[in-house]
Amino acid sequence: MHIVPTPSPAASAPRPPALFLSHGSPMLAVEDSPAGRFLDGLGARLPRPSAILVASAHFTAAPFLVGAAGAPATIHDFGRFPDALFRIRYPAPGAPALAEAAVRRLREAGIAAAPWPDQGLDHGVWVPLRRMYPDADVPVVPVSVNPRADAAAHFALGRALGGLRDDGVLVIGSGGFVHNLGDLVWTDRDAPMPAWASAFAGWMRARLEAGDLPALLDWAQRAPEAHRAHPTVEHLLPLFVALGAAGDAPRVETLHRSHEFGSLALDAFAFHDDPPPAR
Ligand code: ZN
Repeated sequence: MHIVPTPSPAASAPRPPALFLSHGSPMLAVEDSPAGRFLDGLGARLPRPSAILVASAHFTAAPFLVGAAGAPATIHDFGRFPDALFRIRYPAPGAPALAEAAVRRLREAGIAAAPWPDQGLDHGVWVPLRRMYPDADVPVVPVSVNPRADAAAHFALGRALGGLRDDGVLVIGSGGFVHNLGDLVWTDRDAPMPAWASAFAGWMRARLEAGDLPALLDWAQRAPEAHRAHPTVEHLLPLFVALGAAGDAPRVETLHRSHEFGSLALDAFAFHDDPPPAR
């Protein structure tokens, strides 16, 4: 992942970067917070996408599924939160033709995948998108992750989908940078980040900034406190989808860094395949 500038046709539409977003607690949809304010401004910073493809930690399946609903429902896949959250609808249209194209690309890459006609938008999809694109006027296609498959399989998934960015499709991995719900200080949103979480997050950030793909793909063995940071892996897998979607040598941009309830790290990254701006 070292920087390899490649000329692109002058007339081509801007390719949106691929993004990894931490979607945090569902309250991120409605509460004021640093992460919420970051998402509020993010949509306007990006080229206007033709559609958005989101690999979400809350859509798990094997083989990989691609949501193909024309009008995907809003899924409230959480409990014990205020009624206001359950009343939220995110009425973005689907994009069945894009879903079919995504499945075709996956199969051509040798990845087992199928369209899933009735898939709605889980909160890993709509919590960030509602803040980024509040008008819900960009078509959205959800993509599953497979917790039984490793980081490399998800990197390959992203790689196979990355070509869709040529058509202005924004590829997002929505998960959590550090995600251990059993180890949060639920009573204090501003609790300091514990050392174990900082150790994991710091290792990941350094490896991302160094473009050390072999280490990243082997995170479960190499990263300090990997199991404590991700006792289940589904919230980190979307990061590898986004990374894969950005090509061989992405430029990694840290978009946001904050944390809540102690260890819930809300880091967000953009993966660009253009060279960095000239200084
Ligand atoms: Zn989540």
